[in-house]
Amino acid sequence: VEFTSGDRRRQAATALTRPSSIGHDTALVLFRRDLRLADHPALDAACAGHERILPLYLHARDEEAPWQPGGASSWWLHHALEALQQRLSAQGATLHIAGGDSLARLRALIKASGARAVYWTRRYEPAAIARDTALKAALRADGIAVHSLPGNLWCEPWQLATAEGLPYRVFTPFWRKLRAQLPAEQPLPEAHARQWLQLSGSLPLDALELLPRIPWAGGLAASWKPGEAGAQELLEVFVDDALADYANGRDLPARHGTSRLSPHLHFGEITPRQILHALQARTQRMDARRRPDLEPYLRELGWREFAHHLLYHFPQTPTENFNPRFDSFRWADDNPAILRRWQLGCTGIPLVDAGMRELWHTGWMHNRVRMIAASFLTKNLRLHWQHGARWFWDTLVDADLANNTLGWQWVAGCGADAAPYFRVFNPHTQAAKFDPEAAYLKRWLPELAKLPTKLLHEPWRDPDALTNCGYPAPIVDLSATREAALRQWQALPPR
Ligand code: FAD
Repeated sequence: VEFTSGDRRRQAATALTRPSSIGHDTALVLFRRDLRLADHPALDAACAGHERILPLYLHARDEEAPWQPGGASSWWLHHALEALQQRLSAQGATLHIAGGDSLARLRALIKASGARAVYWTRRYEPAAIARDTALKAALRADGIAVHSLPGNLWCEPWQLATAEGLPYRVFTPFWRKLRAQLPAEQPLPEAHARQWLQLSGSLPLDALELLPRIPWAGGLAASWKPGEAGAQELLEVFVDDALADYANGRDLPARHGTSRLSPHLHFGEITPRQILHALQARTQRMDARRRPDLEPYLRELGWREFAHHLLYHFPQTPTENFNPRFDSFRWADDNPAILRRWQLGCTGIPLVDAGMRELWHTGWMHNRVRMIAASFLTKNLRLHWQHGARWFWDTLVDADLANNTLGWQWVAGCGADAAPYFRVFNPHTQAAKFDPEAAYLKRWLPELAKLPTKLLHEPWRDPDALTNCGYPAPIVDLSATREAALRQWQALPPR
């Protein structure tokens, strides 16, 4: 056992700590989807209440089943852990990394450190809740104090309910209630332990084998900087360049009109409370006449809260239709070749392909294009939304069970407060409206870059011009497949 402390003044005292005193005042802090040191209530409480802290990452498959992180998420996790380790190193601490069965590993570490308490930030996915509940019961039976704290949401999912005491199913009243009680407290500063405990036997990060052998890892590295510092940089850029025009710019995929904070939020490298306070602090300093309207952006964070509220109260929805009326919907038979063409961005529908290639290359896709690509899969190809959700799960750096489930069910029409089924996005009119210069299309479909913009928006006028560039012909007729989908929908039993 070794003690370290970033604070030089404390190092002398640290060196004097006798092994006999180990344990009485030691706590483990388990890092999961909270890979940060600032605004971290669990870490903060542990540091305030205990002399020594062991910062710990447990690579536990039981916490994730049946949604093990996909390739892009694993890539992010590796780099986020690396960034967290760097932040801890600046305080003279080392992140202890362990794998295997969570309870057995925790018990071994508790024994080795003599800790009497464990802290973690809550998670809301069904498997994580089941795992945490079991861990809590077993550790408490061992006489260990277990503290699970909030920290990744503005509001815990069980804290908001309708007048009848039921979970919300509709966004607008949910948001009205939440908007009226956003956190007023300032975010917590970076936590500092009095002493950081270091145990032998930590695994090297590489031993987790998170870095996938995927051809697109280079594109991810060029697009992102995982970790707290990367999140704060993106927040600054967003506030400086895009916040003022967010209501309009958020729909234009060629622009950086959104914050791109979704993977950082998913991994807990930044909190919604930090974002709220940063935006308020920045805009309060501005001349009132020029102050940007924060509401459209806060509302999107409200959708994130709503997604977590739904996942918590309806934990079956990652695999089951929220609206059971859709259980008898006749999806097209599984067709792996057609699915593959959608996955790889070779459908012959420019905006869908551009989005799927952006996803493949960067691990992220613009929200409007996500909606269009998902609508095309579920309505024009009539493939089950689960196929799309699984592909996004593997390829998105921000893959998030709550947000992904809400997004897919919303587009497919079977979700809570979903888009009406008959709303089938037309990718060509959407491209003309939201990518008027075809800059986004040309960026992701370079083989078409020399064609006139109008033809990219209306490719049916000269299909040969596109195929002559090596671009595929459309795999389906948009209007015939739309009609067929609507017929299937009309055949559903009444509500
Ligand atoms: P901004 O516009 O800057 O919004 C700020 C934050 O608000 C986002 O980072 C995100 O945390 C939250 N947010 C924004 N829109 C939504 C939304 N519609 N639902 C829930 N939260 C939202 N988002 C994910 O984080 N993970 C997913 O796995 C995911 N899958 C999706 C699948 C489909 C089919 C669809 C249509 C949407 C999905 N989204 C998902 C929601 C949304 O597309 C992304 O959150 C957004 O594009 C992230 O970019 P941003 O950070 O620049 O967003």
